[in-house]
Amino acid sequence: MGKNVLLVDDSGAIRQSMRYVLENAGYTVTEASNGKEAMSVISSATNLVITDVNMPEMNGIDLVKTIRAGEAPLKTVPIIILTTESQADMKQKGKDAGATAWVVKPFPPEEIISAVKRLIG
Ligand SMILES: [Mg+2]
Repeated sequence: MGKNVLLVDDSGAIRQSMRYVLENAGYTVTEASNGKEAMSVISSATNLVITDVNMPEMNGIDLVKTIRAGEAPLKTVPIIILTTESQADMKQKGKDAGATAWVVKPFPPEEIISAVKRLIG
């Protein structure tokens, strides 16, 4: 069984393409379409979270804050933020919230895989 990645994005097309890339690299993928849904499916088996920023219900920054305010061991789970916004303020917001890394969309598949490998092997 591969390590478990929780993939959070409100775009079904992005979830579909990222699931394909992650599963091909040997990871097991759980999907959620926003932060609120992510909080209902995240578990102690979750090894890594990849999240979009702009989503309805609960955005990616609030998701990071909610996870970091929670209980161990989940509060220390590595979190990668996906954003189309390369602005320094969005990166800073993600950092302040406790994100581990971020990747700017659009990105080639190998970029997200190397970021995931670096964090969880
Ligand atoms: Mg979005």
